[in-house]
Order: sequence, then structure tokens, then C-alpha cells
Amino acid sequence: MIDTHDAGITDPVALEIRAAEGRLVGSNGRYEKRLSELAGLYRDERAFAASLAGDSGDPVYWVESSDTQRGDGALITGISVLEPGRIGDEFFMTRGHLHARSECAETYVGLEGEGVMLLETVDGRSEAHPVRPGTAVYVPGGWVHRSVNVGTGRFSTLFVYPAVAGQDYDIIARAGGMRSLVVADVDGGWSVRDNPDHVGYRA
Ligand code: MN
Repeated sequence: MIDTHDAGITDPVALEIRAAEGRLVGSNGRYEKRLSELAGLYRDERAFAASLAGDSGDPVYWVESSDTQRGDGALITGISVLEPGRIGDEFFMTRGHLHARSECAETYVGLEGEGVMLLETVDGRSEAHPVRPGTAVYVPGGWVHRSVNVGTGRFSTLFVYPAVAGQDYDIIARAGGMRSLVVADVDGGWSVRDNPDHVGYRA
């Protein structure tokens, strides 16, 4: 029998998705974002300051992922979990990014809650796709992407993307935020409107 470890073949990984707990059992990486780390993400600075003053310090979103294989052809599998909430009329959201290798795609699958995947190209296209349990969204290369929790409970997704992709978070900050904002409606729903601070994406 050939010993595949000698051939550099990685062991398979079995993961247990505990969506309600926001856990990916068997994963080997986790990062968290607290409200205090998200200054400048939301347009309403007064609302942000007020929320921060009463903040518990708990994470507002986190990612647990498995990246045991590296290099070309490898995939990273993980879950993204966003708590519900708003800053002004904007719903809680991830910072968002374009993949550092922008040709790399990503698939998201809704696990829990009600969210929106906000997608934009650097040349001006913008789309907002609802994500619920059982929804899959394919994010092609070249699209800036962000998750937004428009529901009243946790919003969690499973994601899979190439290990070589990397993330460019700063592209959104340099553009004055994403082109579109996902905001609360008077009727309790959500809608998309233009971000007046957006100055266009630059390389
Ligand atoms: Mn991504």
C-alpha cells in the first residue's frame, strides 16, 4: 500500500455544524469582532457611540474555520455568525472584503436566521441577495462581499473558498464604504439605498 502521507496528502476533516450555538466543531481557527473594533463601519457615528457606551463587549460576529490544507486546490470551510442588531438604520454586518486574489470565488449556504449577501463589483454593479436556511449564494471572483443580519436572531452561514484567496478588507474603507447600504424599513423589513459616502472602488 502507498503511504499517502509521504505523498503530502492531507487527512480528511469531518466537521459538526452547530448553527444554533454558532460553533463549527472540529475547526482549527476562530476570530471574533467586537463592536469596539468596528469604528467607522457604520455611517451614524452618534448611534455607534451610543451603542458602544452600552456595549457588553461580547463579539458581534465571529468566524470558525478549518484550513488544514494549504496551497493551490485547497479549500477553507467555515461558518460566519452575526448577532442581530442595528446602528442607526443599518443592520449589523461583517466588514466585507474582496479576495486578495480577486479571481477566487466563494459559496455561502444559509444555516440560521435571515440575512442578506451584499455583492458589488469594482466597476459599479451591486446586488443584494436574501439568505435563509437552505439558500446558497455563489460569489464569483471579482465581487466585494459582505453579510448583513436583517433578522431578529443570529444569522449564520457556511462558507467554502479557496485557501489561496486571502482578503482585502481595506478596499471598502478606501471607497468610503460599500456602494449600497442595507437599512431597516419603517415596516420592519429591509431595503437597499445608495451610500452617499461611497467614492468608488480603487485598486
Ligand atoms: Mn470571502
